Amino acid sequence: MWAFVSPRIVFGEDALDALTEVRGKRALIVTDPGILELGLATPVIERLSSTGFATQVFSDVEANPEIPTVLRGAEIAMEFKPDWIVAVGGGSPLDAAKAIWVLYERPDLQPAEISPFIDLGLRKKARLITVPTTSGTGADVTWAIVLSDPIEQRKVGLGNWENVSDLAIVDPAMAAGMPKQLTADTGLDALTHAVEGYTSTWHTDMTDGLCVHAAADVFEFLPRAVADGADMEARTRMHNAATSAGLGFGNSMASIAHAMGHALGATLGLPHGRAVSLCLPYTLQFIARQAPDRTAQLAHRIGVSSAGGEQAARTLAQAVRNLTSRVGNPLSLAEAGISKGGFETSLNKLVSDAENDTQMITSCRSPSSQELRKLFEAVYEGNSVGF
Ligand SMILES: [Zn+2]
Repeated sequence: MWAFVSPRIVFGEDALDALTEVRGKRALIVTDPGILELGLATPVIERLSSTGFATQVFSDVEANPEIPTVLRGAEIAMEFKPDWIVAVGGGSPLDAAKAIWVLYERPDLQPAEISPFIDLGLRKKARLITVPTTSGTGADVTWAIVLSDPIEQRKVGLGNWENVSDLAIVDPAMAAGMPKQLTADTGLDALTHAVEGYTSTWHTDMTDGLCVHAAADVFEFLPRAVADGADMEARTRMHNAATSAGLGFGNSMASIAHAMGHALGATLGLPHGRAVSLCLPYTLQFIARQAPDRTAQLAHRIGVSSAGGEQAARTLAQAVRNLTSRVGNPLSLAEAGISKGGFETSLNKLVSDAENDTQMITSCRSPSSQELRKLFEAVYEGNSVGF
């Protein structure tokens, strides 16, 4: 038996107006200081206030949100007693809000206990609205929560299907102001979700179409969105593609590029989308050895290659590299500014963190420690490696 979970999704121009149809009394807005400064929380608060909501803002969420931050957010929720939690931002505030919501409803739990294997019994105190301001993470529709453990300097994957949001508001105007670099990084994250969601061993008939559609749209519209941020067609298609990819991989899981990317983010501080997409061409070729038909089918369906077998994966990997360089992103960790010494010092930890990442479970080929080491080294140098 398989399942597919999704919030109600409103999308397109003026989708934010759906907030005026929400009924309730108290809304806790969870966001980050940058979003607040850009004024992106203001239209959310205005719409909620117009229907009589009392609002409070928790804006302490940092990039790669840390466990102590969500515990603090949950304390604030406990004091304010919201009946809605409204998350506004990129993946960090959205993931933090999911954890804050669960801990507010279930103060008996520790963050590490939020897993797919327990009944949470949510929605007794509040419900969750997600408003993404980047086009990439898909966190508006996924139930996964990625938090950082500041003591162990690693990322922890948490979440339960119950903590998927009730309403996702996918309004392209909320992401239209993203600078070029953020547009590129988050857009490449969406591509990585689509590709890994399709090649995951948990992919299903419900997720495949979403992943193919999203991948094709990222190839077509990301260069336009990066070249001209005012191109609202490109912005809209990228915003929708990010959510489609989120639905796809959120219901089938990601894979090795995310396991490696999480390790790179936690240890070397690389932005999430840049980290996972740097790994993607290598992991694609790595898994193609085990699942050549699956990767060839994906390359064929998104129109990148009609070749069969591993050749298609090589062509798809090259297409990912071409897109990466077209949007101005680095093609190796060295190009991304990571020193050779820093990389070598971190390599053992990178390998062990990636091995222990939950996203590794759904890879259609499991790398050994030695193979992971080689993959990281290839990503560092930008050399292709035969596996
Ligand atoms: Zn991602």
